[in-house]
Amino acid sequence: MKTIGILGGMSHVATGELYRMLNERANHYLGGAHTAQILMYSVDFEHIKQFVYQDKWAESSAYLIEKAKRLEAGGADFVVMVSNTMHMVADDIAKNINIPFLHIVDMTAAVLKQHQIQKVGILGTRPTMEAAYYAARFKELHDITLVRPSEAQMTDIDTIIFEELCKFEIKDTSRQRFFAVMEDLRKQGAEAIILGCTEIFLLVNEQNYKDIPLFDTAAILAETAVRTSLGLN
Ligand code: GLU
Repeated sequence: MKTIGILGGMSHVATGELYRMLNERANHYLGGAHTAQILMYSVDFEHIKQFVYQDKWAESSAYLIEKAKRLEAGGADFVVMVSNTMHMVADDIAKNINIPFLHIVDMTAAVLKQHQIQKVGILGTRPTMEAAYYAARFKELHDITLVRPSEAQMTDIDTIIFEELCKFEIKDTSRQRFFAVMEDLRKQGAEAIILGCTEIFLLVNEQNYKDIPLFDTAAILAETAVRTSLGLN
């Protein structure tokens, strides 16, 4: 079994859930008392929040490269990052380590392709919904088109993620706001919706929203990391 290197803490809420999912998935494949082999660097989320809010992507890149190098030095066989947003600097991280970096867009696109989905709604932080690193990678490498919410909707979603979900606050009013945005995405022609932020499944998921297929990047990350670690990918 290969050791999964995790850049975590973005947020600790998502990372805690991912830790559980990785171990459950490994046990699903291996049985017995088997669990996943993991090495994690959990960062201080205040730094991440400030990098995002102040558009400090160079600083963010340097910060995360240093953590990824520590994972490599510690014996991780490959690296995953528990944040869609911080994939803004994924290419920089990948270039600065000598072990594979598994990109969340590529693993999500692979699952969407299995379901023949080409036009998909995106929910995530503002950079994830707006910036090229996410939509352009889906389009250019995978020929998948993203449909994004309106300006006002993006502001609400971004605020709910940072001010509630990353603090483990799950509110029904916010869930209803998400549902309304998801309905609009469906009306705009989205065939499915990407939960493109690793905390969103705590608020909306297949159990409480059945009008359109949902693709959760947290679950996809867990499954891909475990399968890679076991040589099943
Ligand atoms: N976990 C989040 C994501 O998947 C948002 C928090 C962050 O900015 O890292 O994008």
